[in-house]
Amino acid sequence: MDCIFCKIAAGEIPSAKVYEDGDVLAFRDINPQAPVHVLVIPKRHIASCDEITEDNSDAVAKIFRAIPKVAAAEGLTNGYRVITNVGEDGCQSVHHMHFHVLGGKKLPERMS
Ligand code: 5GP
Ligand code: ZN
Repeated sequence: MDCIFCKIAAGEIPSAKVYEDGDVLAFRDINPQAPVHVLVIPKRHIASCDEITEDNSDAVAKIFRAIPKVAAAEGLTNGYRVITNVGEDGCQSVHHMHFHVLGGKKLPERMS
């Protein structure tokens, strides 16, 4: 499958890793939109949140167990934002589910 985040998860494309376990990888966004901008992905391909089912929802739990570890590693002691974009209207550009962890400054109040 021609998926850039599958290739990053497989180590075929390099990334600046922040956290990794058996199921989850977190790495720095190549085009950061905040002082800290990390992407947290399941290693196994899931296209987006819209593809979550009873059979694969454990991936979401694993990602959300990893996020506090990412935040601690990045020194986000004063809070942060977690965003996932879905599909066309959500402006999802990489169709491998990922959660943006943004922080390191006071973020804008509005989200859209
Ligand atoms: P989306 O728009 O799908 O929610 O977010 C995709 C994110 O992936 C963007 O913020 C973009 O900068 C990031 N991105 C795209 N390609 C790469 C890449 O090859 N490496 C890294 N580290 N980030 C990428
Ligand atoms: Zn993928």
